[in-house]
Amino acid sequence: MDKEPPFDGPALHDEVRVMFGGGGSMAAPITPPTFHNDGNHIMSLNRFVKWLAEIAEEMGVMITPDFPGAEVLYTEDGRVRGVRTADKGIDKDGQEKDSFEPGTDITAPITILGEGSRGSLTKTAIEKFDLRKGRNPQIYSTGCKEVWKIPEGRIRAGQVYHTVGHPLKFTGNEFGGGWIYALKDDHVSIGLVVSLDSPDPTLDPHRLFSEWKQHPFLAKMLEGGEVVRYGAKTIPEGGWFSLPRPYMPGAVLVGDSAGFVNMTRLKGIHLAMKSGMLAAEAAFEVLLARAGQEEPEPASLEETRPYWHKLLNSWLFDELWRVRNFRQAFQKRPFGFLRGNVTAGLHVMTGGLWPPGRLPLEEDHHGIRKISSKTDPSWKAPPKAKPAAVRTAAEVAASRKDGVKSVAPAQPPVPLPEPTVKSEGIVFDKVTDVYHSGSVHEEDQPAHLVVADMDICHTRCTEEYGNPCQYFCPAGVYEMANTDDGQGRQLRLNFSNCVHCKTCDIRDPYQIITWVTPESGGPVYAGL
Ligand SMILES: Cc1cc2nc3c(=O)[nH]c(=O)nc-3n(C[C@H](O)[C@H](O)[C@H](O)COP(=O)(O)OP(=O)(O)OC[C@H]3O[C@@H](n4cnc5c(N)ncnc54)[C@H](O)[C@@H]3O)c2cc1C
Ligand code: SF4
Repeated sequence: MDKEPPFDGPALHDEVRVMFGGGGSMAAPITPPTFHNDGNHIMSLNRFVKWLAEIAEEMGVMITPDFPGAEVLYTEDGRVRGVRTADKGIDKDGQEKDSFEPGTDITAPITILGEGSRGSLTKTAIEKFDLRKGRNPQIYSTGCKEVWKIPEGRIRAGQVYHTVGHPLKFTGNEFGGGWIYALKDDHVSIGLVVSLDSPDPTLDPHRLFSEWKQHPFLAKMLEGGEVVRYGAKTIPEGGWFSLPRPYMPGAVLVGDSAGFVNMTRLKGIHLAMKSGMLAAEAAFEVLLARAGQEEPEPASLEETRPYWHKLLNSWLFDELWRVRNFRQAFQKRPFGFLRGNVTAGLHVMTGGLWPPGRLPLEEDHHGIRKISSKTDPSWKAPPKAKPAAVRTAAEVAASRKDGVKSVAPAQPPVPLPEPTVKSEGIVFDKVTDVYHSGSVHEEDQPAHLVVADMDICHTRCTEEYGNPCQYFCPAGVYEMANTDDGQGRQLRLNFSNCVHCKTCDIRDPYQIITWVTPESGGPVYAGL
């Protein structure tokens, strides 16, 4: 490795900033050890992985970023044997175009699934092998993030702020907070994460991010600057007890796909790297055992289990085990944030000894409050979500090419907020921030957000929850648009806006949305 990593510089000073709704803020008297970044460097993850990719390619690794894995392949006896890449050349109605090219099967004795948070193939593998059996469910936050170029001299490079409070309420039930990392050349990385287990049906991570930026502490820093990039992403935060079994016949899970994130520090990169290294060791042993074979068989469960043992014997386990009940502490209602802070604080201080045992967790969508108690015997039960496969998206697109008949009432049963803020000064509406994300998708392809049954959206969901998808999507993909006659509304999927955060796959109250890999396109993470 003769090239220097693309560091922005060392993290020089951490401060916890307590933000109040009235516009005030103060430095917390102490910065808890979990927030300390001593010895750490700040850098863009996107630049870092590009740097790593160059080194890997020089060493002979083939990287194909243009071909998403679209489907898991199995042997007849149920082992993972690889992945199929996405078919190319299917139109928006699910029909093959002249340019159609079927996906390619990529097979291997061992497949390592590292798709990040809420991986779509990972999700199907977890279900097929029942990898969550006996574990807590996984829960998530959504983080909205921007990189800004600000006027010179506003903040010293290397300064790190961790913010608590506004716009999240100290007496509320949302877990989350913000960060400001001062990069070199007067750039700052700013962001806010908020938990998706909030009871609020109109929870809108992008709106909260916008309110956070309007706090004078942020606003004074950003005014006169310009946004370089926007992005949003979910984070799996359940911790050790929410890990699915990360090995199965023929495959293992690494990084966020498994859930290796330390939420006391909002850090997962080091754990993703460590799990990747251990998976590589396990894979090497599998390959070694097949050296010289012409058609090597996929690994058995016994052959992938050593990956688990390697994890248990590494510092990754020690780190996550010490904070195994941290995030669960915040799911107590009411006053989840306050109660969580007390319990989680004791948990960290006792090195995980208290509270003992395993605190339970509820899935994110379970606690969403209904806006009306109305029920209707004609409402259908929600169907099972469609499997995450590109061909499913094509089938659903084909079945809807003549439109959907059901229509939601023109007005929700109770007045609800607008689903996006207006662009003004340092805040931007969702569509403008999509522009800042650089996200682009070919329009003539099936929508990669597969809603299993839109009648549910137009009937039950409108009445019971007020269509939360309009709020939780940080890119304005889900829109309850007026019908041409103005008599009602229907769900419109502006799928080309999608920034691939996976929030919809997680927080939909009926669990009927499946995010599948699009044929092509997505956000430009450059600089994030
Ligand atoms: C807002 C936010 C801030 C964070 N801040 C920090 C921080 O400061 N420090 C820290 O250590 N951690 C931080 N994290 C967590 C950290 O980003 C993750 O833990 C880490 O990136 C996980 O790495 P990964 O390789 O598992 O997944 P990712 O980094 O998400 O990479 C997965 C990759 O796989 C691709 N992919 C997904 N599905 C497919 C498919 N089917 N086929 C092909 N490719 C696919 C994705 O596009 C992506 O490029 C933060 C997370 C968020 C959301
Ligand atoms: S459609 Fe889903 S994955 Fe895409 S930006 Fe919206 S919430 Fe995120």
